[in-house]
Amino acid sequence: MIKFLDLAKVNNRFRSEIDARIASILDKGWYLQGEENEKFAEHWASFCGVKYAIGVANGLDALRLIIKASGFGKGDEIIVPANTYIATILAITDNGCKPVLVEPDIKTYNINPDLIEAAITPQTKAIMVVHLYGQAVEMEKIWSLAQKYHLKVFEDCAQAHGALYKGKRVGNLSDAGAFSFYPGKNLGALGDAGAVVSNDKDLIEKVKALANYGSDRKYHHIYKGLNSRLDEIQAAVLDVKLASLDVDNARRREISKYYREHITNPKIILPEVYDESAHVWHVFPVRVEEREKFMQYLADNDIQTLIHYPTPPHKQPAYQEWQNCSYPVTEEIHRTIVSLPMSPVMTDAEVEQVVEIVNAYK
Ligand SMILES: *Cc1c(COP(=O)(O)O)cnc(C)c1O
Repeated sequence: MIKFLDLAKVNNRFRSEIDARIASILDKGWYLQGEENEKFAEHWASFCGVKYAIGVANGLDALRLIIKASGFGKGDEIIVPANTYIATILAITDNGCKPVLVEPDIKTYNINPDLIEAAITPQTKAIMVVHLYGQAVEMEKIWSLAQKYHLKVFEDCAQAHGALYKGKRVGNLSDAGAFSFYPGKNLGALGDAGAVVSNDKDLIEKVKALANYGSDRKYHHIYKGLNSRLDEIQAAVLDVKLASLDVDNARRREISKYYREHITNPKIILPEVYDESAHVWHVFPVRVEEREKFMQYLADNDIQTLIHYPTPPHKQPAYQEWQNCSYPVTEEIHRTIVSLPMSPVMTDAEVEQVVEIVNAYK
């Protein structure tokens, strides 16, 4: 069986280091807001090339906190790709803001920069880009629109740890970036974890306070905050795993290159990439008609696949208000997309096996 992602195998590579770091936390008896958080935040900021990072409880909170810290709420509009994972949308509506959905480019699966200007209104406050499937959004046009209309730009980096655009890491391409370290992400914790990165000291200070009951010091609350802290244990695990992130991403690139060069079945639409360093292949998405049949065929041949994602946000029961909206490019992607196995621990033999089976699909 070729697993979509063998998480035990991913994490057991770090077993002895993780065991040692957790043992030292148990010895110290300090579980929140301590040295491990400080160390990881410093290392994560430096990896991303930004001045500041702060660990939070998960990726959704990282997104929520960025919007909250920016002071956006009721009546404010935030532009967001229509084909993103639901968390990006939830972060916006949770703050009382209105998500304004913009169609993606069918080639990159990222927001189509040419469609953004038409979606800008006097209520627009920000553009939230999502580096979907691991590919950095081409930011140039987005930056110029933001400048022209005085908008903030935020990044949902939950699928793109380490991806580069013009030599800069994602998270360093906007006013603030949100990361998730959910176990299956390119950098994953052993549970929930997230981070906010930014070059804006005031914003990071505000996120830090908001994530800790809105307090700037103990028992002194300057904001109506929440509790969204990163555990010391998760910070330590992430700090151990961070040392291998670039190597892991390079392996993902190697696998994706092999897939793209050797999958020749005309029924399979392969993903395109505008620059190899821009993509960290969180998943390897292909498109195919009769997706269920294709997935069943692969399952029958012991290959696990997943769909990212089966239903677009505007068709979710939680967002009844969009039930009658139509986003044809988004719907086409959700109808046909399927992710092949992809992880840094896949062997060459497994990658070759996937290619062989996919090419034999009729
Ligand atoms: C995983 C993910 C999130 C949410 O992260 P959690 O840590 O699960 O809250 C947000 N946006 C995108 C694009 C994601 O893939």
